[in-house]
Amino acid sequence: MRFSKLRLTGFKSFVDPTDLLIQDGLTGVVGPNGCGKSNLLEALRWVMGENRPTAMRGGGMEDVIFAGAASRPARNFAEVTLQIDNAERLAPAGFNDQDHLEIVRRITRDVGSAYKANGKDTRARDVQMLFADASTGAHSPALVRQGQISELINAKPKNRRRILEEAAGISGLYARRHEAELKLNGAEQNLTRVDDVVENLA
Ligand code: ATP
Repeated sequence: MRFSKLRLTGFKSFVDPTDLLIQDGLTGVVGPNGCGKSNLLEALRWVMGENRPTAMRGGGMEDVIFAGAASRPARNFAEVTLQIDNAERLAPAGFNDQDHLEIVRRITRDVGSAYKANGKDTRARDVQMLFADASTGAHSPALVRQGQISELINAKPKNRRRILEEAAGISGLYARRHEAELKLNGAEQNLTRVDDVVENLA
């Protein structure tokens, strides 16, 4: 899977639809302070399923929606589209039926986020798993934000291990194990309740 295009609409400072083409080789983004370079990286992380507003430098997730400027009113929604070249068919099952994969995330004020994969409604979890399995997820160590290197140096061993797990592409497995444990706990509680009911009937 290779990212080929990022499109931002109403996301932070990118009020008008803006395309970032990601071509073979190195893509550089240069510009003066405050022009939106970090916003581009955040858009990439966001479309891959980032759910922590702090990772978007905001207090709430709706802070990613264009908040208005002197000459432009605020927007009601933000949308980021990530186009992926899947010619080598490396996307996980369920996403692997076409040469191109397009993931869209849209957030609407007072409504929340919705995802689409190749035009079909998709759950946030499935998008997060898609990228976690491909080792490029929202928490991927390949995306280095400002201040992250010093955080890494000062991090506790447990947190450093998480970074290695993400790089190794096994964080999706941990997420699935956690979900399985929650289901198991739920089933055990149901069994206990059934035992109580049977006891009362006896
Ligand atoms: P630097 O080089 O200083 O790190 P940068 O190019 O990385 O800067 P960003 O931090 O990506 O710039 O962009 C910051 C700009 O985005 C600021 O001008 C800020 O006002 C604008 N911005 C952030 N959130 C929103 C929003 N919700 N609506 C409108 N503008 C926003």
